[in-house]
Formats: sequence, C-alpha cells, structure tokens
Amino acid sequence: MDSHTPFTFSNRANQLTSSAIREILKVTTRPEIISFAGGLPSADGFPVAELRQAFDVVLEKQGKVGLQYGPTEGYGPLREWVARQKSSADVTISPNEVLIVSGSQQALDMLGKLFIDPGSKVLVESPSYLGALQSFSMYEPTYVPIDTDEGGLIPAEVSSAKAEGARFIYALPNFQNPTGRTLSNERRQDLVERCAAAHIPVVEDDPYGELRYEGSPQPSLLHLGRKAGATVIHLGTFSKVLAPGLRLGYIVAPPAIIDKLIQIKQATDLHSSTITQMAIYEAIKDNFLEKHLPMVRDLYMRQCHYMLDAMQEYFPAEVEWTRPEGGMFLWVTLPKHMDAQDLLSKAIERNVAFVPGEPFYATSDAKANTFRLSFVTVTEDRIREGIAILGKLIREQM
Ligand code: PMP
Repeated sequence: MDSHTPFTFSNRANQLTSSAIREILKVTTRPEIISFAGGLPSADGFPVAELRQAFDVVLEKQGKVGLQYGPTEGYGPLREWVARQKSSADVTISPNEVLIVSGSQQALDMLGKLFIDPGSKVLVESPSYLGALQSFSMYEPTYVPIDTDEGGLIPAEVSSAKAEGARFIYALPNFQNPTGRTLSNERRQDLVERCAAAHIPVVEDDPYGELRYEGSPQPSLLHLGRKAGATVIHLGTFSKVLAPGLRLGYIVAPPAIIDKLIQIKQATDLHSSTITQMAIYEAIKDNFLEKHLPMVRDLYMRQCHYMLDAMQEYFPAEVEWTRPEGGMFLWVTLPKHMDAQDLLSKAIERNVAFVPGEPFYATSDAKANTFRLSFVTVTEDRIREGIAILGKLIREQM
C-alpha cells in the first residue's frame, strides 16, 4: 500500500494523541450512562429567559453595532464592568488591564503563545486542570510539578531550585479542578510573596470563585499579588456564572502583558463575538448576577451534599475523598494498590463513568489510585444510584 498521504502535518500536530480515556469516555453521551465524568455545569442554572431578553434588546437598539466587527480588546462597557468587579477598597483595576476572550480556555492557549518556548519551565500543581495542560503542551514546555496536599499547592516548592527561571506558575486557588480543594489565606499570601521574590508570574485560573456555597471567601491572588509586588494574570469566565455556550471570559493583567495578549488575540480570532459581549453586558449591568448566583450556589451545594452523603453510605472506609466548599468536582483516593482505570472499565460495563486521575498529572508522578467525580450534571436520584454501583465495584476490587 502507498504510505504517502496527500498532506503533511506539523511535528506539533503529530505529537497529539487521542488518550485511551477519551476513547472510553466517548460512551458517556449514551443516555443510559450515569456520567460523573463531564465538567458540564448544570443546565438548570442557565438564565435562558434573561439572556433571550438581553439579546433582543441589543438587536433592537444596537443591532448594527452588535453584528459588526469590534475592537480586539473587547466591548468597552464590559471591560469596565470587569474592572469594577475586580477592584476593591485597596486595589484598583483599570479597564486597560482587562482583555475579553472567548472563554478562559482561549486565555490558556494565548498564555502558552505568550510565555512558552520549547523547553521553558512551567510550574503546575500536581494534579492540575487537564485542559490547561493540553493548551500549554502545544508550546512544548518542560513541566515542573508542584506538590499538593489536602490544603492544595505547597508554596515552599516555588522557592525550590527546580522552580528557578520558570516562565509562570499555573494555580487554581478556588475549588480546584480536579480536586475541589481551596488554598488557605496563609498559603495564598506565602505563594504570592515567594513568586514576587523569584520573579515568577502567577496565572490564577478562577472559573469557580463565584460558586462558593460554604466556608468564607478568600482573597484572590490578584489582590494579594498586587500588594506583594507579584505579577498576577487572573483568568475569569462567564461559563459557570451564566452559561458556557456563550464562550466568553476575561484576563486581568498588567497593561504590558495585556498589550502583548491583544496582539496575540488579533492574530488568533480578531476579537470575541460583539453581539455576545453586548448581550452579556446588557444582562448583568444592573446586578443580575447578585440575584442569579444564590440559586446556582444552592443547586450545586445540594448536589454536592447529595453525593457526599451517598459516598458516606456506599463507599468502604478505606476510600478517601475531598469535601469541596464550592465548584463542581471532588477527588477520590482509593487504597494504594488500586487502579482507577481498571475501576472505570468495570464501571462503564455497569453504565457509570468518571475521569481517572492520571491525565491530570503533567509528569510521571501520577497517582493511579485517584479519580475525579463531577456532582453537578447528574440528577439527585441518579447520583445515588451511580455512587452505589461504584461503591459495590470498589468493594469487589479491594
Ligand atoms: N479552567 C478551568 C479550571 C476549567 O475547569 C475550565 C472549564 N472546564 C476552563 C478553564 C475553561 O472554561 P471556559 O473556556 O468555558 O471559560
């Protein structure tokens, strides 16, 4: 057979592989599957009527502007809204420190373009958000894993010799994806001080910060970093507070970084959707989120407790799990000898799915006995059913 194909991919593209897990998880779209795998927000929290109304108003009053090309940096009033939202009594963010992007996933890709040369050191929590690892990997970094414990990432690691010269640290301080863990105030302070001293920029990815349903809010790395003299690049998104299909998020960073990112974004997609930016602004400008978010938090809290209660009832005592104060995920640790991928194969046969821990680790320090559960997409009765099945399978494998 002729081995020649009519096209030649780049080396970069040829390095991409479809993971075994992704293949397994393809089945999770079948309706009979109880999937704790997806990171999909609950559609019950989408403000459909309000968004419809907002799009209607924009189309009626400013249709020709909304359907036209717009500035790369984003719709002015929305940038101003983000700047106001992220300012506090002692930290002022100006609109020229805000760039509107097409979801924080785009921000991650753009940060890869901005900071990573082949071989550049990038510090990542171990484990970290899989989607960020996929974005950064396109630019061929050398990952340096930062150890974590029950309290999240361990700041002292940033001062270690292995971290020296890193282009940035990628941190998820609130209800981390995948573990659901939150960084304490002390660790946040410690982290930004060490990053300021070591001249390592901090990328703070915070899609879930507004979804806290328990405990007390912690200051953002953005605010602590400003006061400590650290460079912080803060990522936010409308995906979890409104709806992910809007594909809109934002970056808050010093003007020198925003200016470079604007050049990068221009080359990437010119700008994010004008009409969507205007409609989101129309929907949220009069404090809609303050009315809307308590409902979403309440929904997520109930789902989270429902899953925790079911785990308490059905999982053997040797299994450990995190108790998140917000967000969408929790993290399960099986006894050391067990392998979550084996468990997944058995679980799929019984129509239950989750994501094994391994792909969330950037380096070879992966813990095969871990996995992630999402508690927001599945209805309460099915959460119970799915957890009961997992509990039974875990007992059988122990
Ligand atoms: N960062 C984290 C930690 C996430 O969990 C997600 C969504 N799963 C994203 C970024 C991307 O979100 P979006 O592009 O929808 O804003």
